[in-house]
Amino acid sequence: MYQLSRAIYRELASDIATGKRGHAEVLQACERAVERLATDRHYFAQPARTLYRDVRPHFPLHAQAQVWAVVQQYMEVSDQLLISLTAGGRDAFGNPLKCRSTTRRGTPCQRIPVHENGYCPSHQHLAETERTKSSGDIRMAA
Ligand SMILES: [Zn+2]
Repeated sequence: MYQLSRAIYRELASDIATGKRGHAEVLQACERAVERLATDRHYFAQPARTLYRDVRPHFPLHAQAQVWAVVQQYMEVSDQLLISLTAGGRDAFGNPLKCRSTTRRGTPCQRIPVHENGYCPSHQHLAETERTKSSGDIRMAA
């Protein structure tokens, strides 16, 4: 999985203008973003924008459009890849996936999510309300 973050870093490395520390920070930001995408993608609303915001200070102005393009492209590819990796009911670290919901008793639901939205069959209705809510958020942010 760290191949993904290193691939993003390699693509960006030649434009980093903040020296050795900048290189370390850009690599760390890429690792953070991919890791979060792998383990927490349902709550990671704008992976590309988040990573771009983290790395942008390390690049000169003229390189930033290219940096944004790279980040966007790679985060999209990473997301697709991670979705296919987790199709077997495990996350990218091999941990079993669990439904994102909680039971009536307030404990995490232990059922296996069967859909891409991360909910088990009995909690599918939650994905519906969530979709409505988050499209509202996007409108507000725009
Ligand atoms: Zn559930």
